[in-house]
Amino acid sequence: MDLTNFRFETDSDGIATATWDMPGRSMNVITPELMAELDAIIDTVASTEAIKGCVITSGKAAFSGGADLTMLQGLRDLYVGLAKEKGEQVAMQSFFDESRKLSQLYRKLETCGKPFAAAIHGVCLGGAFELALACQYRVVSDDASTRVGLPEIKVGLFPGAGGTQRVARLLQTGDALQMMFKGEQVKALPARNTGLVHAVAARADIVQNAKDWLKANPTATAPWDQKGFKLPSNKVYSPAGMQIWPPANAIYRRETNDNYPAARAILSAVYEGLQLPIDLGLKVESRYFAKILRTKEAASMIRSLFVSMQELNKGARRPADVPPSKLKKVGVVGAGFMGAGIAYVTAQAGLEVVLVDRDQEAADKGKAYSHKLVSDQIMKGRAKTADRDALLSRITATADYAALKGCDLVVEAVFEDPKVKAEVIAKVEAAVGPKTIFGSNTSTLPITGLATTSQRPQNFIGIHFFSPVEKMLLVEVIMARKTGKKALAMALDFVRAIKKTPIVVNDTRGFYANRCVGNYLREGHLMLMEGVPPAMIEAAGKQAGMPVGPLSLNDEVAVDLAFKVLKATKVQLGDGAVDPAQEKLLSDMVEKHGRLGRKNKKGFYDYPEAGPKRLWPGLADLVGKRLAPEQVDMEELQHRLLVTQALEAARTYEEGVVTDPREADVGSIIGFGFAPYSGGTLSFIDNMGAAAFVKLCEGLAKKHGERFKPNRQLKRMAKTGESYYGAAAAKAAA
Ligand code: NAD
Repeated sequence: MDLTNFRFETDSDGIATATWDMPGRSMNVITPELMAELDAIIDTVASTEAIKGCVITSGKAAFSGGADLTMLQGLRDLYVGLAKEKGEQVAMQSFFDESRKLSQLYRKLETCGKPFAAAIHGVCLGGAFELALACQYRVVSDDASTRVGLPEIKVGLFPGAGGTQRVARLLQTGDALQMMFKGEQVKALPARNTGLVHAVAARADIVQNAKDWLKANPTATAPWDQKGFKLPSNKVYSPAGMQIWPPANAIYRRETNDNYPAARAILSAVYEGLQLPIDLGLKVESRYFAKILRTKEAASMIRSLFVSMQELNKGARRPADVPPSKLKKVGVVGAGFMGAGIAYVTAQAGLEVVLVDRDQEAADKGKAYSHKLVSDQIMKGRAKTADRDALLSRITATADYAALKGCDLVVEAVFEDPKVKAEVIAKVEAAVGPKTIFGSNTSTLPITGLATTSQRPQNFIGIHFFSPVEKMLLVEVIMARKTGKKALAMALDFVRAIKKTPIVVNDTRGFYANRCVGNYLREGHLMLMEGVPPAMIEAAGKQAGMPVGPLSLNDEVAVDLAFKVLKATKVQLGDGAVDPAQEKLLSDMVEKHGRLGRKNKKGFYDYPEAGPKRLWPGLADLVGKRLAPEQVDMEELQHRLLVTQALEAARTYEEGVVTDPREADVGSIIGFGFAPYSGGTLSFIDNMGAAAFVKLCEGLAKKHGERFKPNRQLKRMAKTGESYYGAAAAKAAA
């Protein structure tokens, strides 16, 4: 056998070991070459009499992350090309045949007549776990990094290489559906306890454990290939099945609002597949897989959440001619809510942190936040006391600016007041050397304005985090007029070191993310003032695919902050820049009723000590009028909530604030949860087509006002048929 991706050897007992270890890659992935080699291994094991069975294991730090998603993207492109050339039917047939090859390969392995065992250490996800599921035996290491799961749903796909059928034949139906709907990653012990894997062993023993099992079970077959196999939750059409399936539909709706075709396909593939023998079940799964792979949701999610995100993480926007910075020491000035979080993620990345505040007490309080976060991790068994000690030893809390000497980068997160910021900029610049880069975490003050007080504007840049810092993946890096490329490179190196995803934007009020999400909040406020029942506003937000409704979100952000931003906008841009209805609502909420949001347990919702939050009944009196539910068009509410954000993204793109559709899309999903199934704000427009989007905007503008008027670039695109990604690709090729 001519293998490059596996090492293959057979021991004196006739047990073969195929060690998956792809050259030149840090992680094993499933590619067409890999599939061809696995096919050859199956043939060899099946046809060589001396071989009794085969262990599949990995030569890398983890088992494998699954299929190469760009391979799936390629399949989809093949379909589009063939459909144009030879027609839909030929394209569909060839697409179906191609897209089920992996499923067929795994079934071949499972039924080749010799047993296979997977010996798993580290992550084993997606197509790789489907490979393990086709093996008759699975043993996993007891290491904390070991996880198995089927996360395909997170990129708009579903397990199409047997996962839906095998998991649903191993677990109770409810558990199987839940695992696949959520894309859960299961650790070693729960995986064994639920029956997803057979055994847990020390890392050094997994291969021997698998060999011992193969020796003892030379004729093993999968449970579903044995006579008398019974489904864990009984037949679909049985009293037990009838307890499961009606609520399963309801759970599906609740979890997805029917926005994710892949989730619906999981439900259908399991429901139909469980009524059939395994081979037909696999065929049903393949049909759904081919269908899902062609959806715009899968294409957009793969593009934004996998391909683009990876490109941005790897520094797509980093100036290539600046050598990588060796960041060692980072200063954080302002140890409040944001600064404390920034200090934590920086120390977590192994960097030294100097955390400065006005006095020692405030600085210590900021450091204590790191103590709390690691202690929470320790409680959950995810960290050890030694980790906490090490992390805390990397943070120096002080009131002395002189301690910032030697920092490669200083991030400022003090009060949102230009005077305070100017003072801090001067103090920092007096303490650090000329090469230190200064990053401001301001959310509303233009960076170019702040940079005017700096002695070294070429070193000055915006590094805008989202709260809570330790959870939110996005960081906006903002270029001021004079920001130099060394500052950009350093900011991007820092974001990479702390394992977040950067987007690089040009300077403007609100930058990118807050402009879009601010519109989402405003639309919710205006709906409320029109008399739309608040529960319907919230439901419309979630049905549109947002993680929470606009009123909930505003409570999290703080209602007084929204009011403060509105007032500042009015001062800077004039009365016409704010909507009087929104102004009245926010001023009544904050000034008359002291309703500030979750932080004082009084916002658009009440937050009782016991029980869940509920909408504040006083909203009815505040607004005065109330539409009857039947007067409200839910679909229009959903359109308004998404269009207002996508349109703002389109404006930022035309203004040159965002310059790359990938950044607009990735930023919108990970920054403010913009309907992930759409692929992000600009994909939302591209998928609908600029002409249809402009028509939708114009209809909404007529009914609800100027704020929905499409911008010039969009109107031009509607005429020419251009798309954001099409234009960006053409520009890149030119
Ligand atoms: P905060 O009030 O919680 O913290 C500000 C901290 O700065 C306080 O600890 C204060 O003592 C300290 N400080 C004030 N003057 C100082 C000085 N001269 N020297 C040293 N320390 C000083 O505020 P926050 O919410 O953490 O916001 C900080 C910055 O981050 C602001 O610019 C804000 O716009 C921005 N931001 C906030 C959020 C958010 O959600 N809160 C999100 C993104 C960005």
